[in-house]
Formats: sequence, structure tokens, C-alpha cells
Amino acid sequence: MKNITVSKSVPVVGSYDVVVCGAGPAGVFAAIAAAREGASVALVERFGFLGGMATAGLVMPLSVFIYQNKRVIGGIPWEFIERLEAMGGGYIEKPLGNVAFDPELYKLCMQRMVLEAGVTLYMNSYLTGTVVGTDGRVECVVIENKNGSEALEAKVFIDCTGDADLAAMAGVEMQPMNGEPLQPLSTYFILAGVDTSSPLIAEAMHHNKQGVNCHCLPIREYLLEHAEELNMPEFGGPWFCTTLHEGCVAVNMTRTAADACDNRDYTAAECRLREDVYRMADVLRNNFAEFKNCYVASVATQAGIRETRRIKGVHTMTAEEYMSGYRYEDSISRGAHPIDIHATKGSSQVTHFLEQAAYVPYRALIANNYPNLLVAGRCLSADRKAFASMRVQASCMGTGQAAGVAAAMCAKAGCSVQSVDIGALVERLKALGAAL
Ligand SMILES: Cc1cc2nc3c(=O)[nH]c(=O)nc-3n(C[C@H](O)[C@H](O)[C@H](O)COP(=O)(O)OP(=O)(O)OC[C@H]3O[C@@H](n4cnc5c(N)ncnc54)[C@H](O)[C@@H]3O)c2cc1C
Repeated sequence: MKNITVSKSVPVVGSYDVVVCGAGPAGVFAAIAAAREGASVALVERFGFLGGMATAGLVMPLSVFIYQNKRVIGGIPWEFIERLEAMGGGYIEKPLGNVAFDPELYKLCMQRMVLEAGVTLYMNSYLTGTVVGTDGRVECVVIENKNGSEALEAKVFIDCTGDADLAAMAGVEMQPMNGEPLQPLSTYFILAGVDTSSPLIAEAMHHNKQGVNCHCLPIREYLLEHAEELNMPEFGGPWFCTTLHEGCVAVNMTRTAADACDNRDYTAAECRLREDVYRMADVLRNNFAEFKNCYVASVATQAGIRETRRIKGVHTMTAEEYMSGYRYEDSISRGAHPIDIHATKGSSQVTHFLEQAAYVPYRALIANNYPNLLVAGRCLSADRKAFASMRVQASCMGTGQAAGVAAAMCAKAGCSVQSVDIGALVERLKALGAAL
């Protein structure tokens, strides 16, 4: 392949205590938490709205806040949920504490909380590069937007891009995949004109049961039995979720194998999945009375990504630790979703329900030799199974909150992320409401 060399001078347009890259469930709470601890904070996001997979991917519901009747994710994420509910944009499904939501009000509620915390937003800005010193310090990140290339400096950086973009650019070692396939991509879509008052849909669109898969079994069984004659593309579930509007459901059903960190693979998957959305809407309309008047009201801005890169952190959470509820000395958050691995080919899914909520160590958010870099959300250090539970939104919000508080403490103390005062961090998180 022919290579060209591009060298350019980039203006440093901002200098902060903390720069957070990626404004999904992890990044938003990292930014708010750091700012509320007194840090000056910038939040970089490639889209013109916040929420990551929840809004760009229309991924719902937001799982899991409550387990065995105890709140497992508290603090600022829970404040967000209560505020979203008060705005009419969220509905907390008891007893599990999964949250159904209106994706537009989700964006608005997050934006208000971020701006109220005093965070400087760089929206429509794509993280494209970084400068790392010989001591492993991230000196700045480079972003691209309509102003051109710009650099942001910070004392501490938090990678919340989901795909560990910043960590990968900085040269952080990633988890080996050991030849195992990545979980598939799925494009969510919203169907309007659905009979949401029918018993089948009314039951399926509330994800409120502990210990059971909430897919719509009668439709699944029909589709599996008639897959060939219906010319069904690969599918999972289907799962339907209320968007809080009569006649509308968010549908999680499409499924394809791809590596979303490979642009060509991801492009092809986006195109396949968009075709599949319309094919599946036809199948539902033509075969189920509840959907006979339905139409595609919207398709997610991006295909949903379940799994890509994760860092090899100071500690990698294992499934054994996770499932046994092992309590680390540096536990900073929790996870309570089942271990949930979707097959790359076919319609199956492996689900292990947890006996107790799991703990997450701070060391899963940092790598050796990178003194001012944290990660949170989907790119934390976990083996494949532990990750398959931790990837859900409430868990990502919890690690985001912890990373934000830790980053603010490091910026203030002038210490490395490896030498943060763990006792003080845990106490601060508990004071915020984290269920540790
Ligand atoms: C099909 C599917 C079903 C799911 N089902 C559920 C469910 O039922 N319940 C649940 O709670 N969770 C579910 N999840 C998981 C959950 O949505 C995600 O794992 C979670 O949103 C990850 O949060 P995050 O903040 O780590 O990353 P993301 O939500 O991916 O956010 C990352 C943010 O970073 C931005 N970004 C990325 N790269 C760059 C860059 N280079 N420059 C600038 N910005 C960048 C993105 O635009 C995005 O806003 C599902 C996911 C999928 C795909």
C-alpha cells in the first residue's frame, strides 16, 4: 500500500484538569463527576448530542440499577434516572431497576446535567490522535471538527470511547481475543403504529423480570420455525422495549458479525443491517396482527456495538471473580446484569444470571505505565465473560462516575492514576451514593 506523510501544526485550544473522550453512559458521568469535584473538564464527542449507544444506537432499556431489591448503581447516575423520570423521559421498571426511556429526552437531560456541572463540550468533534511523552504521559489529544485540527491538553485523560480509541492510539496493550469471535452488531429501530396495548406486546416491552430473558418468545418461536420461508436474515431475540409513547416500540432484532474497529467491515455491516431493518419490519407487519399497521419511524444513527477493544489493565476482572461476587480492596463500582454473550452466527445467546451483584476494581480502569490515563465503560479491563455483564449502561455509568472522581483527585494532588489514594476515592464514591 502506498503511504503519504502528513505533518501539520495544530493549535492547542484548551487546557483542562481533565479531558474525557466519548460522551456515552460512561463519559457523561465521568465528566459530571470530575467537574463536581472541582476539576475543569472538557468532554469530546463525535456526534452533536450525548448518550452514546443509548441515543445514537437507540439501545434500551438502561440496565441494571437494582438487584435483589438493593440499589447497585447510585450517585450521579441514579440522580440522572430520577431526573429523567421527572421530565417524563424515563420509567423505572421495578424490581430490577431497568429503565425504559425516550431517547430524545435522554439526550436533553444529559446535556442539561453536563452544562450545569460546568463541563466544556466539544461536540461534532472526532478524536483522531494523541501525543504521548516518553514517560507514558498523554500530553494532549487531537480532535477534528469544522474548525480543523485542534489539540486539548489536560492533567488527566479518560477514555470513554467504547472502543478504547484513545488508549489504542496511546499504545496501551489490549486484551487478547484468543481467537474468540466478537459479539455481533445490531441496529435498533423504532416501529410506530404497533398495537402496544395487545397482551403480547404490553408484556414484552417491559423488561422487569429477574432471572428470565425478556425476549418475545411466541414471536421468536414462530420466526425460528418459519425462518426459511420468511427469508429471515440473521436475528436475535426479538426484544421490544417501550419508548414511553403509545404505539411505539424499540426493536432489538437485527444481528450481524463484524469488527466495528475496522472501517470497511463496519461500513458493510451498517449497510447490511439497514436492509435487514426493513426486511424485519415487513416480516412483523405481514405475520403478526399486533404489527399490521406498523412502520419504521426511525433507525439508529449507528449500528449497535456490543464488543470491540478493551485494555489490558493493571488488573483484568475474571468471570470467576465476577460471578463469585469477589470484593476487591479497591472496589469502585458494581455490575448486576447477567453474563450475556450473543452468538456471532445464528440466533442463540448464552446467559448466566448472577447470584449476587459483582464488584469492579479501580485497577481495571488503569494500565501500567500510563500515569495520567483512565478508561471507563465498555473499554475497561475484563475477560470476555465478565465484560459480557459489565457492558450494560448502568455499569458503564458506575465506572464513569468512579473514573471522573479519581481523575479529579489525581489532577488536584498532582499524582499518577496508579498512586491515587484508594481509601479516599472509595470514601468519596460512597459519599456520592455509590453502593460499595
Ligand atoms: C445491540 C445492543 C443491545 C444492548 N442492550 C443493552 C441493554 O438492554 N441494556 C443496557 O443497559 N445496555 C445494553 N447494551 C450495551 C450498552 O448500550 C453499551 O455497552 C454502553 O452504552 C457502553 O457505554 P460506553 O459509554 O462505554 O460506550 P458508548 O455508549 O459506545 O459511548 C461511546 C461514546 O464515544 C463516542 N466516540 C467513540 N469514538 C469516538 C471518537 N474517536 N471521537 C469522539 N467520540 C467518540 C461515541 O459517539 C459515543 O457517544 C446493548 C448494546 C448493544 C449494541
